[in-house]
Amino acid sequence: MENMSQSAFNVDLVIVGGGPTGLLSAVLARSLGLSVYIIDAKHGPLDLGRADALNARTQQYLEVSKTLSLLEPFGLKCNTSSTYEAGEFTSQQNKWWTSLKHTHRPNFLMIGQSRVEEALLHQLDIPVDYNSRVNGIQETSAGVVVTTDQGRTVVAKYAIAADGARSFVRTSLGIPFTGTKPEMVWAVLDTWIETDFPVCPEIITFQKDGQSRVAWIPRERGMNRFYILLDGEINQENAEASIREHMAPHKVEFTKTEWFSTFEIKERVASTFISKDGNGRILLAGDAAHVHAVNGGQGLNTGIADAFNLIWRIAFVTQGHGGSALLKSYDEERRTTASGVIDVAAKLVRTTVKTALEYVEIIEKNAGYITGMGVSYSPTTPLVVDSSHGDFVAGDRCPDLWVAKLPATPSHAQVEEPSQVRLYELFGYGKFKVLVLGNEKPATFQQAVEVQQKVEVWHIHDQEHRRTTLPYEFRADWVKSDEGAVVVREVFEAPFVTLTARKPLAHDLLPDHLDSVSQAVWLDQVQCIGEAEVLQH
Ligand SMILES: Cc1cc2nc3c(=O)[nH]c(=O)nc-3n(C[C@H](O)[C@H](O)[C@H](O)COP(=O)(O)OP(=O)(O)OC[C@H]3O[C@@H](n4cnc5c(N)ncnc54)[C@H](O)[C@@H]3O)c2cc1C
Repeated sequence: MENMSQSAFNVDLVIVGGGPTGLLSAVLARSLGLSVYIIDAKHGPLDLGRADALNARTQQYLEVSKTLSLLEPFGLKCNTSSTYEAGEFTSQQNKWWTSLKHTHRPNFLMIGQSRVEEALLHQLDIPVDYNSRVNGIQETSAGVVVTTDQGRTVVAKYAIAADGARSFVRTSLGIPFTGTKPEMVWAVLDTWIETDFPVCPEIITFQKDGQSRVAWIPRERGMNRFYILLDGEINQENAEASIREHMAPHKVEFTKTEWFSTFEIKERVASTFISKDGNGRILLAGDAAHVHAVNGGQGLNTGIADAFNLIWRIAFVTQGHGGSALLKSYDEERRTTASGVIDVAAKLVRTTVKTALEYVEIIEKNAGYITGMGVSYSPTTPLVVDSSHGDFVAGDRCPDLWVAKLPATPSHAQVEEPSQVRLYELFGYGKFKVLVLGNEKPATFQQAVEVQQKVEVWHIHDQEHRRTTLPYEFRADWVKSDEGAVVVREVFEAPFVTLTARKPLAHDLLPDHLDSVSQAVWLDQVQCIGEAEVLQH
C-alpha cells in the first residue's frame, strides 16, 4: 500500500468499515489484484460479543476465501435444536440440517465475531486504518473521494459502505433506510456457568408460561450465549434471574461473564444498495444495507454473502469487463435476499412469545435462510437463466460434489487412484468456471484453451484417463457420459446450466470474456478428441 504518511491515497477501492463485511471485502478484493484502502473508526478488531454463528453457506464461502481453516479448529459444530419446559426435555429437531444435500458442513460453526475479524485481519496483506472515522464522502463521474477525521483523503474508483447499521455513508447519501421496529429489546449474555442441567452441544429453547423467551447457544471455549427477552428493566441481573427461572428446577451459577449487551430489534433495508439510484460508485453492504432481529443468526452471515456477491463485480468492472448493469445486478440480487432475511428474522422474533415448538417449527419452515443453503437468485434477475440439470439448478448454490482430479500426465502414465476432493475445496474466487460434464466435449479443445486464460474450463467425466490437456480435468461417478455444461460464477451459484439452455445472456451484464465462454460452450462444435491429439498439445 501507499505510504500511510501521505495525506492522499489513490486506490481502486476504498472500504468504509472494518467489521466482518468490510474485512472480507478487502481480503477478496486484494486476492483479485485491486488496490484497497480500508478505514475503521474503532481501535482494532472487535474484542468481544456480537455475532456468534457461521451458517453452512458462510462456511462454504470462507472455505473458498481460505479463512475457514483459521476458524474451524476453534469453533463448535452444532446442528440440533431442543426444547425444554420446567426442566423436562420436550423435543429435538435437526432435519433441516441433516437433510441438506451435497453439503460438507451441515451445521452452524459457533464462533465469536471477534475471532472472525481476527482471522480476516490475519489474511489481509494491507493494514486497516483504525482509529479513523470517515467524515466526508463525495462522488464524481470518475470516482469517489473519502475524507477522515485524521485529515486523510482517499480517492478511489469505487467505495463500499460497510460501516454498520448507523452507516455514515448511507446517511450522507440520503438513502432511505425504512422498515419497522417491533419494540423488542433482547439481552445477550456470553458467560460460563455451573449447572446440574444436562449440558449438551445443542441450541436449547426454553418454554415457560407458553412463551419462549430464553435461548441457550453452546459456544467455543466452553462458553454459553444466552438470548433473553425481558419484561421491565433490562440489565444483567434480571437477565440472569430469567435464565435461572427458565432452567429451574435445575440450578445454575454464573461463574464468569465475558460480555453483556442489549440488542434493540430493528427491521430495515436500504431503498437502494448503490448510490445515484443504482448508477453510482458507492455500494452498501452488510448492516449498512440491512438490519434485522438476531434470531436465526443471520446478520454477519448476510454481510459475508454480500461481500462475496459484490467484490467480483467491482473487480470485473474496474478491470474493464462488464458495465454498470453488472453492478446493478448486485442490488437486484442482494436487496431481494436482504428482504427475505428480514422477513424470516421478523417471523422468528415474533414467535418467541409463543411455544418453543412453534418457534422451532418456524425455524424449520425458513431453514433455507438460516442454514444459508436455500438462498438463491431468481431467473427474473439478469444473471440467471431459468434452467436446471440434475442437482444443478440455475440461481441455486452449486452442489459440493466429489471429484477426482486426474493427474497432469495424460492417460497411461496414470498409475495411482487419484484422491477425491470436493468442488468447494478446489474453487477459487474470481473466475467463472465452466463445468463441462460428460464425455462429449461441447467445445473444441482449442476454444477451451482460449477461454481457459480468463475462465476456468473444468472437464468432468466418468473416464479413468485424461482426455485433454486442460489444467482441470476430473473423474466423477455422478457424471453421466452425455450431460452438458454448467457455468458457475464467483459466488458459486450456477447462472445457467445444460447445453439446452441456449437463451443468451444480456451481454452488457457480463464481462466481455464471458461472450467467448458462451460461444465456446453453446456452439454446436462438439468434437471428442482422441488421445493422440491430446498428446500433441
Ligand atoms: C449489540 C449487538 C449484538 C449483536 N448480536 C448478534 C448476534 O448475537 N448474532 C448475530 O448474528 N448478529 C449479531 N449482531 C449483528 C452483527 O454483529 C452484525 O450483523 C455484523 O457485525 C455486521 O457486520 P458489518 O461488517 O456489516 O457491520 P459492523 O460489524 O457493524 O461493522 C461496521 C464497522 O464500521 C465502522 N464504522 C462505523 N462508522 C464508521 C465511520 N464513519 N468511519 C469509519 N468506520 C466506521 C465500525 O467501527 C465497525 O467496525 C449484533 C450486533 C450488535 C450491535
